[in-house]
Amino acid sequence: MRISRRIAGLNGGGSDGWEILYRARALKAAGKPVLDLTVGDHDRITPDLILDEMYRSAKGGRTGYADVPGLPKLRAAVAERVATRTGVATEAENVLVVPGGQAGLFAAFMGVLDPGETALFVDPYYATYPGTIRAASGVPHAITARAEAGFQLEASDLDAAPDARAILINTPNNPTGAVYSEATVRAVTEFAEVRDLWIISDEVYDGQIWDGAHLSPRALVPERVLVVGSLSKSHVMTGSRLGWVAGPAEMIGPLANLATNTTYGVAGYIQDAGLEALLKGDAVEAEVAATYRARRDLALSLLQGSNSVRPVPSGGAMYVMLDIRSTGLSGDAFAEQLLDAHQIAVMPGESFGRAAAGHVRVALTANRETLSAALAELVRFAEEIRDAA
Ligand code: PLP
Repeated sequence: MRISRRIAGLNGGGSDGWEILYRARALKAAGKPVLDLTVGDHDRITPDLILDEMYRSAKGGRTGYADVPGLPKLRAAVAERVATRTGVATEAENVLVVPGGQAGLFAAFMGVLDPGETALFVDPYYATYPGTIRAASGVPHAITARAEAGFQLEASDLDAAPDARAILINTPNNPTGAVYSEATVRAVTEFAEVRDLWIISDEVYDGQIWDGAHLSPRALVPERVLVVGSLSKSHVMTGSRLGWVAGPAEMIGPLANLATNTTYGVAGYIQDAGLEALLKGDAVEAEVAATYRARRDLALSLLQGSNSVRPVPSGGAMYVMLDIRSTGLSGDAFAEQLLDAHQIAVMPGESFGRAAAGHVRVALTANRETLSAALAELVRFAEEIRDAA
């Protein structure tokens, strides 16, 4: 059977980076008590405020096809959020509602790349990035953000990049927790102006800032930025699949046409629930962020002083990245052995590229007690391996 080269080659000949998650799920299904700290999914369900509106809307009849580019009120509410967070006037026509940030990333690359054109992205990276670029028939090219620079991009890292059409950045960053400084964002926007690039700015964690401040490149060069956002992380709506692309109306129009020919929009009752979240859910968003912040603080304080596991000081997002190179193991081997020995599943740094090799990423998706116990176990495990080496 012939399968298109585009689909057959999505993982670039390697793996998709999620193997440990699949193993953890299989062990769980077999009845093993696995603590899953792999993916960025919440350890709670969507708040009542949002679920009640979803139910009310669906029972009220909003179960048919909805406006493909998004309900006008939701587009307007997203526009207001983007305007407030970037300081740039944003209208409904600047917003396309999509089924989650991931669909927004795909749409954005479909919008900016012709087949065979290169898109730059930053290593360490969210595991789907190269595959998303390939899915849009583009060629992914990684630029390395170095651990020694706190995983901030520097102008010199950018200069060496080949010719491209677009650059994808993500701040606050998954997996590193880096919040890009103004200098970093300015370096990216200046580089994009010199090279005439689109900037795709993945801002799904823009409400989860623990240190520093969020600066969107849209605030600096709105004419060449597509912001990708979503309610997955901010409002505990991962499974609802609700996100957006915000940018110049000249791009959003054709992207709506793409949506007509791909997703055909997002369910009306999901959009109504998202609207409720945006209009009345500030307290929900603040509470969700406060929970992750407290867990980040807890993790950093528990790991302070450990000489086997060194946390990367995470400035945002719902993860901490741990440097386990003192054990002599790769992130892959460490994660595999930790899962086998202690039924704790974390993501190997190698799933996020080369720059995070020798690290593991812990999703802060367990309560304080469970998280403390898991981190203590992880440190003991790292010390045993280091001492035995
Ligand atoms: N971008 C980043 C950096 C992520 O971490 C995720 C999910 O973990 C996504 C995009 C996709 O989020 P969603 O499609 O749920 O909005």
